Amino acid sequence: MKNIDEIATPRRTKEIIAKHGFSFKKSLGQNFLIDQNILHKIVDAADLDEHKGALEIGPGIGALTEKLAQRAGTVTAVEIDQRLIPILTEVLEPYSNIYVHHGDVLKTDLPELFAKNFAGMDKVSVVANLPYYVTTPILMRLLEEKLPLDSIVVMIQKEVAERMAASPGTKDYGTLSIAVQYYSEPELVCIVPHTVFIPQPNVESAVIKLKVREKPPVEVKDEKFFFEVIHASFAQRRKTIANNLKSRFFTKENRDQLEPLLEAAEIEPARRGETLSIEEYARLSDVLLEAGIKG
Ligand code: SAM
Repeated sequence: MKNIDEIATPRRTKEIIAKHGFSFKKSLGQNFLIDQNILHKIVDAADLDEHKGALEIGPGIGALTEKLAQRAGTVTAVEIDQRLIPILTEVLEPYSNIYVHHGDVLKTDLPELFAKNFAGMDKVSVVANLPYYVTTPILMRLLEEKLPLDSIVVMIQKEVAERMAASPGTKDYGTLSIAVQYYSEPELVCIVPHTVFIPQPNVESAVIKLKVREKPPVEVKDEKFFFEVIHASFAQRRKTIANNLKSRFFTKENRDQLEPLLEAAEIEPARRGETLSIEEYARLSDVLLEAGIKG
C-alpha cells in the first residue's frame, strides 16, 4: 500500500473539494467528517479485522472508507452522488480492497450485493456517517431485510440515536425504540460536536452501535400484527392504551371485550403505550390475535 496523506483533515478535504470543483448538496445530507479521532472511534466500535467485511453507505470523498479498508478484509461503499465517483476512484486508488458501488442504497439489491462482495467473509458490519434525511428508512431496511449482519455502527442525529436506545417510561421511548430493539441491542457510543463536519450540520450528532440479534428477544405469533398493535398504542401518546386500542381495533359492538383481554395480557387499561415493554407488547398482540381481533 502506498503511503498517502489521510483524507479526513480540514486541509486535505478542502484541497480535494477545490481540485474537483465539488459543491455540497444539502438535499443529499452531505456533511463530511474532518476529524481523525471521531473516525477512529467509529471504526473501533465496529471491531473489524481482516476476516470481516464492511458496508459503508455514503462514502463522500472516502474519509471513513480509507479507515475501514485499513482494518476490514473488504469494503463496499454505496454512493448515490455520481459527482463523487471519480473523486473516490482517485483518492482511494492506493487501496485494493475497496469496491465502490454507484447507486441509491434504498434501491440497491443488498442480498445480491452481499452474496457478490462479502462471500468468504466471516461477518459483515455496516459502518457509516449516514445522510440524516434517510436515517430511519436505511436502518429499518438493513434490520428488516435480515441481512447477515454482525453490527451497524453509524453517525446519526443525536435525537434519533436517543430514541433508538430509549427505555420504557421515558419521553424518547416509542415505535422506533421498539422496532430497533426488536432486531438489535443499541448502545450509544459518543456524542459528536458540530465542528467535526464540513459543512457543519445544524443538528447535534451521535454515534450509535446496533449489535444485531440472532433472534428477536420475544417470540410473537404474527410479527406484522405485533407492530400494528405497537403503532396503534402510540397513535396518541397522551391517551391510555385502552383508548388507543379501542379506536384502532374495536367497534361499538365488541369494545367490552377489551378490558378482559388486557387483563389476560396482565396490562392495566389506564397505562399509556410508552410504559409497556417489548415483552408486554408481545403478550398483548398474541392475546388480541387469539381472540380474533384483526388489524
Ligand atoms: N462518509 C462521508 C464522511 O463521513 O465524510 C460522507 C458522509 S455524508 C453525511 C452522507 C453521504 O451519503 C454523502 O456522500 C451522500 O452523497 C450520500 N448519500 C445520500 N443519500 C444516499 C443514498 N440514498 N444512498 C447512498 N448514498 C447516499
